Amino acid sequence: MSKKKLGLNSICTHVGEIKDSQFKGAISPIYLSTSYAYDNVDVKRYPRYFNTPNQEHLVKKIAALEGAEDALLFGSGMAAISHMFLAFLKKGDHIVVQNTLYGGTRNFIKGECPKYGIAYTFTNGYAVSDFEAAIQDNTKLIHMETPSNPLLTITDIKAVTDLAQSKGILTTIDNTFASPVNQNPIALGVDLVMHSATKYLGGHSDILAGTVAGSKSHIQDIWNVGINLGGSLSDFTVWMLERSMKTLGLRVKAQTKNANKLARFLDDNNHIAKVYYPGLPSHPEHKLAKLQMKGFGAMLSFELNEGIDAKAFQKELKLIKPSMSLAGVESTMLLPSETSHALLTQDERDAVGISNNLIRFSVGIESYKDLKRDIEHALSKLKVASLA
Ligand SMILES: *Cc1c(COP(=O)(O)O)cnc(C)c1O
Repeated sequence: MSKKKLGLNSICTHVGEIKDSQFKGAISPIYLSTSYAYDNVDVKRYPRYFNTPNQEHLVKKIAALEGAEDALLFGSGMAAISHMFLAFLKKGDHIVVQNTLYGGTRNFIKGECPKYGIAYTFTNGYAVSDFEAAIQDNTKLIHMETPSNPLLTITDIKAVTDLAQSKGILTTIDNTFASPVNQNPIALGVDLVMHSATKYLGGHSDILAGTVAGSKSHIQDIWNVGINLGGSLSDFTVWMLERSMKTLGLRVKAQTKNANKLARFLDDNNHIAKVYYPGLPSHPEHKLAKLQMKGFGAMLSFELNEGIDAKAFQKELKLIKPSMSLAGVESTMLLPSETSHALLTQDERDAVGISNNLIRFSVGIESYKDLKRDIEHALSKLKVASLA
């Protein structure tokens, strides 16, 4: 193969395959051994050392997709986050964390950092000036999440990274919502990119996994800590993830296309009060999203008009399922006020703009016309009910 960079779908299909030289099968064999010979070998292999054949090969695909030198696989997205933070932080350090953030990451920082003597500041907003205001003399790491959950705010990745670099601070980003198909933060200067592979990389709602990509030396730093923390991924799941990722480009492009159309359809519908999607020209950071993303992603949120009950609306949907997670090939919706943000008080939810009528929509690969019809049908049922 020539040295020229492969296209997205070729990387998804082929990079990191294990050649089956014995039987010449078309797909990677799976190596389940936890015990390998140690004499006359280049690598002393053990699954917790992140170096089984399947792990070593699949990280090549992930690194190629993110334009990174190297990557590691973990047992969950949270394992990826905790290993990444703990590898670079120690007692007396301070971390700046974006305010609009995945709930599990917030819980990890609030619950675990104090035990290690690591101080933290959540930003007041997601503008560069909010990050700058939170930096202290002992700040070692800045963590971003964009697009964010559930209101799809967009952070200026390059500006925050430039700020961090001018002060010698490491930058990390949660790239789960965009997926590597729609955003590659390493090209914008970010040091480490993590994904909950449970979401788009897996894509079929049947895998729990996580990954971090970055430079060889940063990945080595995480490895050093990772073999002690022990959060590596089972090779069964590594193999399933490889299979899933062959269609990552196809899936996410189809989902993104559907989301673009549905955002416009919802925006034009007079029963919908507001739509949050970075691909809409009315989104406050639409121009920035256009600059730093390759596509606007397949997650969106919307508010129903006052007087239309969000729970009743969800019950009328036939095709679109209520679900806690996201990013599968199937379309799902959830109410943040009842699920991800249920533990916040009403005042706290109001402060971050999460109303009881807000619905988060993870757009799947189904035919656009069927998704549109499902929503139209549910709205028409509720209109009839409200007239009765
Ligand atoms: C789901 C998710 C995580 C956590 O991943 P798990 O695989 O559930 O541990 C982290 N960040 C974001 C944005 C997520 O959606």
